Amino acid sequence: MKSVVIEQSELQEVVSYNPATGAEVGRVATTTADDVRAAVERSREVFHTWKKTSFAERRRFMMRAREVILTDIDGIAKLISAESGKPFGEAIAMEIAPVLDLMQHFARNTEKMLRPAKINIGLYILMGRSSKIVYHPLGTIGIIPAWNYPFSIPLGEAAMALMAGNTVVIKPSELTPLVGLKIGEIFAKAGFPEGAFQIVSGAGETGSALVDAAPDKIMFTGSVGTGKKIAMAAAKNLTSVVLELGGKDPMIVFEDANLELAAGAAVWGAFCNSGQSCSSVERLYVQESVAEKLTKLIVDKTRQLKQGSGDAEDVSVGAMSSERQLKIVEDHVNSFREAGAKIEIGGGRNADFSPRSSDSRTEARFPLFFEPTVISGATNEMRAMQEETFGPTLPIATFRTEEEAIRLANDSEFGLTASVWTRDYTRGRRVAEQIESGSVCINEVLYTHGIGQTPWGGFKNSGRGRTHGREGLMELVQPQHIHTNRFAFIPNAWWMPYSATAIETFRALATKFASGSIFKTAQLLPQLWKRIKELR
Ligand code: NDP
Repeated sequence: MKSVVIEQSELQEVVSYNPATGAEVGRVATTTADDVRAAVERSREVFHTWKKTSFAERRRFMMRAREVILTDIDGIAKLISAESGKPFGEAIAMEIAPVLDLMQHFARNTEKMLRPAKINIGLYILMGRSSKIVYHPLGTIGIIPAWNYPFSIPLGEAAMALMAGNTVVIKPSELTPLVGLKIGEIFAKAGFPEGAFQIVSGAGETGSALVDAAPDKIMFTGSVGTGKKIAMAAAKNLTSVVLELGGKDPMIVFEDANLELAAGAAVWGAFCNSGQSCSSVERLYVQESVAEKLTKLIVDKTRQLKQGSGDAEDVSVGAMSSERQLKIVEDHVNSFREAGAKIEIGGGRNADFSPRSSDSRTEARFPLFFEPTVISGATNEMRAMQEETFGPTLPIATFRTEEEAIRLANDSEFGLTASVWTRDYTRGRRVAEQIESGSVCINEVLYTHGIGQTPWGGFKNSGRGRTHGREGLMELVQPQHIHTNRFAFIPNAWWMPYSATAIETFRALATKFASGSIFKTAQLLPQLWKRIKELR
């Protein structure tokens, strides 16, 4: 682990280290369980005033928050890079830019997206009835993100929640506590009312305290194991949860694809953020006839990548965020070796960076660099093709037919994203629709989390519910159905007391009205009239 929580009886602090150097980035006091509860209570109080603000007011706050970020892009990117190990450029391109776009989108469009909507209630309109849906905010949203995109994931979810009229409490990862505080600072500078947005700091226990404090919804991003624990804890209070969990995302490359582009995409998709993206390319399936050519292109491109500390502008692959994650990668690469796959390039801790310092409590051996690693001859039977690696590895397997490619891609407990590479768009769409994943790209990889306008979430063990897009916004509100009767001068045929005429009418309702046919419903009118006269 890169950082550690010092026992509450001792210092009550989370210490954050730069994984590229081992230098301490800072310390943050942990929030006690009592204070987490108090934060949620405060959040609930503020909710009653925040929910009454107009969309225009919320938009102004959100646009001011964007301005605060825009004035300090470099400072924020440096902090993200220092705490997570990712290159400075990636912090801007993959965290700051996408979340700025998401913020402007939801600032401008939430009102439209949550406008009351009329419902088509079929033949009930003949009875003077109408229905519409209005959307209410839920209350307090608890956000528990992972460390891999410590800025864009919690900030994006918070921006959507606030625009929908909710208040927010975030528990950042213990690995990136200062980025968490930075998010709080941005909202405070933007003038959001005190308590509308709060940060609680600490490790898993603090997250657990947040779940136990029973916010109105939990937005969780992390591993399947923790996701299950949170779902179980949340169930005690019937708190609903959105779970954004792991992935083992396949990239399928057909022989007609632009191989040069596919190779570039595979390298970026597997190695950006040192492979620590839930939607990283974790399995590449290439059609047998072009496997050798594509593998060579990928290896050549990988050889050109410079690895190093994220603050250098020409570094493409930074450090991994934690020793724990690096050990999983080592284990997976070794298991590929043992199973007979070939390591084409990379394959271990980067020897150019000898351990400079270590942390005795966490056994982290800084700096945490694992080489970008390309592996050929992988098959789905190998353990590391099934478990999430979450590191800079790109295992390559082959297929012969379209059916085989789909079968191999779907042979996984996960289903977050996938990609299909072909010049034949009909085939691309046909294959995409058969892949069991929440998002499938044709001739593109990984980046759609960066398009806040589109829904994000997984099939199978990759999650429950959605963030982003209209579907994600709907997770942050509760729909209320308003039903109106404009014929409030006659009784309903189904009211009491019941009688033989009533039963006859109910039969007619079942056979004629419920057919949805206006012609059959018209035949029901004499019977209906008889019944209404009986009731008056
Ligand atoms: P974890 O599940 O270990 O942790 C996720 C968050 O939960 C952290 O903030 C963690 O705090 C907190 N936490 C840990 N235990 C508890 C608990 N008992 N109760 C409440 N909160 C708790 O995941 P990682 O941080 O290791 O993240 C990597 C995983 O996240 C990968 O599987 C990856 O695929 C997934 N992920 C999914 C995404 C998606 O959109 N689907 C996006 C990004 C990542 P702390 O860190 O302080 O221990």
